[in-house]
Formats: sequence, structure tokens, C-alpha cells
Amino acid sequence: MSANNAFHIAVLPGDGIGPEVMDPTLEILRKIEKTSDLKFRFTEAPAGANHYLETGKSMPESTVRLCDEADAILLGACGLPSVRYPDNTEIMPQVELRFHFDLYAGVRPARLIPGVPSPIVGADQRGIDLVVIRESTEGLFASMGKGIVTDTEARETLVITRKTSERLFEFSFRLAERRKARGRANGGLTCVDKANVFKAFAFFREMFNDAAKRHPDVKTDRLYVDACSAMLVKRPWDFDVMVMENMFGDILSDMTAGLIGGMGMAPSADVGDHHAVFQPCHGTAPDIMGQGKANPTGMILSAAMMLDWLADKHGLEGAAEAGERIERAVDKVYADGIKPMEFGGGNGTADIAKAVLEAL
Ligand code: ATP
Repeated sequence: MSANNAFHIAVLPGDGIGPEVMDPTLEILRKIEKTSDLKFRFTEAPAGANHYLETGKSMPESTVRLCDEADAILLGACGLPSVRYPDNTEIMPQVELRFHFDLYAGVRPARLIPGVPSPIVGADQRGIDLVVIRESTEGLFASMGKGIVTDTEARETLVITRKTSERLFEFSFRLAERRKARGRANGGLTCVDKANVFKAFAFFREMFNDAAKRHPDVKTDRLYVDACSAMLVKRPWDFDVMVMENMFGDILSDMTAGLIGGMGMAPSADVGDHHAVFQPCHGTAPDIMGQGKANPTGMILSAAMMLDWLADKHGLEGAAEAGERIERAVDKVYADGIKPMEFGGGNGTADIAKAVLEAL
């Protein structure tokens, strides 16, 4: 935090619908500024596929430096399917930032906002309020760019380390405890793995069991990822916090985003010991970009998560309250009947953003 008590926020709008949902989110944060003691200083910087087209790099050194110096990083979706590196992979500065700043805890909350349709029968009555924690720097993704492919076979290697797993589990138990303290959930934590088949996951579960002994107040569970997937679509309301390896988290967090209405509803954070990136779960959605159709809710709720993280890091209760105010404003807007085009309604980006601003 700088001398004038302003939080310095690095803003990377990204590609496709990224900038379209970033603009209204910054407007909402400026409204928070006007109606609270919080102050923000936003510095915008390039990253993504369009920057790659212009310069041959996913992001300049100056963007990485800015992210390092800022108090938090707000990121729009990055990458476009039509823009590729010579090896045919997409431009993904978001993944590079995870590795660069060691952002091992990918936090993917899935809360069904009352009024939003869920594909799960009974969810409107029972509610959904869970968090997937996806380890974000190793697992199968440790092999990114290092896989070996010959004419006859391909190999990618999964990595689980004690150093990262122990920090990941501490983070997960702490989150479960914070949610319980806020009366938000039952304080449960589920370890999701495939410990019955792979030694690496048996190792993962063993470290989870050790961490559980240090947090006897948190109710714990252990599930295999296949069984867990079936339970998630049958009884998502039984879950609270869930922690898992990178690839499993990549898949399950998109599924849980689907449970709460769609990609445009889901916020996310990638958190390390010193830095954190906040961005919606969705991609750049080239099919709807430039049409005003994008749902900005996931981006707006990511900004609320950023305020909660800043509050925890700096011991500033006012920032947590501001985050909750944004969540309540979003809830009100949906309770009042707004319906994003994303799920068949008539409301585009501008309508949703305006309604949240008014509700604030
Ligand atoms: P990535 O690999 O970058 O995550 P993706 O191809 O998996 O991207 P998205 O870009 O998220 O997926 O798009 C998937 C579908 O969801 C598309 O049809 C897109 O239009 C829709 N979608 C994604 N985000 C939003 C949003 N915020 N509002 C409305 N629709 C969205």
C-alpha cells in the first residue's frame, strides 16, 4: 500500500471480452472508493494475444514488474484461439503469472446466486456455496511445454511436491476456517484425488491427512475424483471447500461454474504467499466479443474477492466489508430479475453493470 493509503492495482484487461468486463468492474471499484475509506490507484498494462500479435511476446517485462510492485493484480481473460505460438499452443500470460509469482492456490468459488437458474434439480431450494481450490503451479501442468512426443508415443509427467502441497493444504484449511467463522458454511474440507491408483496421489493424500491433524476443528473428507464428480452433479450442496491437483481442478472448476449458471458467473483468484491475481473463470469468448453480450458478473465478483484478500493481508476490515457490499449488490440485481444473455435473457454487459452500480 502506498503512502496515501491507496491500494495500487495492476489492471491487465486482456483480449476478447476481457476489456469489455474489466471497464464496468473498474467503475464499480471507483464507486466503492467514493462510498468508503478505501482508495485505489489503477495502472493498466498490456498482456495477451493482441500484444503477442504486435510484439511477439505474451506480455512485456514492464507488465511483470508492475504486477510485482502492485498490491494486487486484476486480470481480464487472455488469449485467442486464432493466435498461436509456433508450437500451436495459445498465448496464456495468466498461466505464466501463476508460475512466475508462485500462485499455488487457485481459488474457484461456485455460489448459486438466488434467482440464477442452475441445471441441477433442487439447487434453487438447497443452494450451492462451495469453493474448488486448484493447485496451480504443478500437478500435470508442471509438464507444460516439456512433454515429449515421438511418432509412436507421447509422455507428460505429473509432479506433486511436499513444499507446494503443504502450503496448499494450510491455505485450504485456513479458508475453511474463515468460511466457518463467517457462518458461511459448515467448515468442511474435502481432498479430491486418485489415491487408489497413483502413488503421487497417495503422497498428496498423506500430506492432507497430516495437515488435518493440525486443524482438528475442520471436518474433513477424502474422495476419488471420479466419485466426486458424480456426487457434485447430484448433491453439490453437500460440498464446502475442496482441494485438488491442477488438472483435476481445471476440469472440476469449469464444471462447478456450470452448476451456478455459466462461465460468466464464476469469479476466481490465484493466490501465493505474496502476490495474487483475480480474474473471472471464463475465457475470451471470441464468439460474442464486441457485441455487448458478455456477462460481467464473474469479473465483478473477482474484484470482490480481491478486496477480501487485501483485507486479510493488510488487516483492513473495511476492505472485506466493501467486498461483501459488492456481493450483496450483485445478489440484489439477480433477485430483482436481471437475466444475462448468457442464459437466454435480454440483459447485456451494460445493463448488468448499471444495475450493480445502482444497487451499490
Ligand atoms: P478458455 O480456453 O480461454 O478458457 P474456452 O473456449 O474454454 O476459453 P470461453 O471463452 O470461456 O471458453 O467460452 C465458452 C463459452 O461460454 C462461449 O460460448 C462463450 O461465449 C461463453 N462465455 C464465456 N464467458 C462468458 C461471459 N462472461 N458472458 C457470456 N458468455 C460467456
